[in-house]
Amino acid sequence: MDDALMCSFLPLSRTLNGMRVRVDTAKCQGHNRCYALAPELFDVDDYGNAHELNDGVVPAGLEDKARLALANCPEFAISIEE
Ligand code: SF4
Repeated sequence: MDDALMCSFLPLSRTLNGMRVRVDTAKCQGHNRCYALAPELFDVDDYGNAHELNDGVVPAGLEDKARLALANCPEFAISIEE
């Protein structure tokens, strides 16, 4: 298989096999709890509103932090896809 073609499939397979987090920006109220608990997975803007890093892909070993952030979001703005 052509190298360029093979490389184009790698991100897709990684996405399908891993955990992802999402922030619903319509629900987020900028409490910053997710960023405080899991700065590897979330960042916040100047108003404290959160967004996921790395297109939401949760690196291996950080799954518990993703679940902790989900459990501590008072607005239920975080979701996890596994
Ligand atoms: S904890 Fe929830 S409401 Fe607060 S910044 Fe994070 S996603 Fe937004």
